[in-house]
Amino acid sequence: MSASAYQIIDGKAVSLASKEQTAKAVAAFRQATGVQPCLAVVLVGDDPASRVYVNNKKKACEFCGIRSLEYALPAETEKDELLALIEKLNADPSVHGILVQLPLPRPGDEEAVIAAISPQKDVDAFHPVNVGKIMQGTAELLPCTPAGILALLAAAGVTVAGKDCVVVGRSNIVGKPMAMLLLREHGTVTICHSKTQNLAAKCREADILVAAVGKPKFITADMVKPGAVVIDVGVNRLENGKLCGDVDFDAVAPRTAAITPVPGGVGPMTIAMLMQNTLTAAKTQTQQG
Ligand code: NDP
Repeated sequence: MSASAYQIIDGKAVSLASKEQTAKAVAAFRQATGVQPCLAVVLVGDDPASRVYVNNKKKACEFCGIRSLEYALPAETEKDELLALIEKLNADPSVHGILVQLPLPRPGDEEAVIAAISPQKDVDAFHPVNVGKIMQGTAELLPCTPAGILALLAAAGVTVAGKDCVVVGRSNIVGKPMAMLLLREHGTVTICHSKTQNLAAKCREADILVAAVGKPKFITADMVKPGAVVIDVGVNRLENGKLCGDVDFDAVAPRTAAITPVPGGVGPMTIAMLMQNTLTAAKTQTQQG
């Protein structure tokens, strides 16, 4: 097949535009209400990747005019201590968003910790109440990575309505909510996972293919319909230290109409959506206050 022109969807540019828009909206909100949106980030332990994510969130807050609070707790922090901190933040009217950086050193604590966050302040949209609203199509706080992907599709001029969408991966953080948001946009959605039969054939049906597997170069050219839009959520660290997506970019890209790169595709959008959610949470809480 001869290489055709394809669009590389520039997540950095779309993320910057989104953060600029949020910064303007934050300034207008502060002017109108005197309230500065505030995000509290809780980091337990000293995982280097988590530290980088938390620092990036802090920088994005500064950019958008959002106040940020950071609580760095030692890895051995007891669950009760963490829950007490969340209770304190839930009760503090000056805090609008609460994010506990995952994974926790004790992954068994995650369910209780997520459930303890007030749904109105749950800017990751992981609380069961918000997950339920995503199912109902009534959520105001959308999970950041899937919401970022919708924003990328919109920026690339891709309409979802009526399209065959295939999501590979069914995690609670990416795959499942992604499928729900594509459904909300009137896509016809198939969710694939490790037990799916004839995966390549199912992927080849996709007008929009979202890969959230966590395996480098998992999606190969033979799995992609010519002219499809391919969204690569994967962030995999190769032995040479380089980042690599779930899609074999060099082989797949020429078959596509549009594709996201790794890095510089989906990744930057997640934080931009977190900023939007923090403003949304502040607005909701201020209206009710
Ligand atoms: P999980 O490990 O939680 O889920 C991976 C999914 O892939 C599972 O549903 C699994 O199926 C499926 N899978 C695994 N192997 C296969 C296979 N051989 N065939 C079909 N499906 C398979 O990962 P996450 O959803 O949390 O993350 C996915 C990727 O996205 C990771 O690389 C992660 O780093 C990245 N990520 C990037 C973000 C960003 O901001 N850019 C944010 C979040 C994640 P099963 O359920 O059957 O086990």
